[in-house]
Amino acid sequence: MSCPYCNPEYQDSDRIVLKNEYWFANFDNHPVSKGHMKIIPFRHVAMFTELMDEELIPLVSIMNNSKKLIK
Ligand SMILES: [Zn+2]
Repeated sequence: MSCPYCNPEYQDSDRIVLKNEYWFANFDNHPVSKGHMKIIPFRHVAMFTELMDEELIPLVSIMNNSKKLIK
């Protein structure tokens, strides 16, 4: 089964509002609340526990930047 988020066209689309070395983010098409964003790793993982240590600080960074964008 292919992953829609690992598609380079998706990762480079105009819908992506934030990026860093390991992560990209966009607003969800079906938001469950105002400002609902998806933060997605460039490296495919099935579970959060598969993330590498070096991906975690950039995750917090893009989360903080997403929070600023939403505000
Ligand atoms: Zn993927």
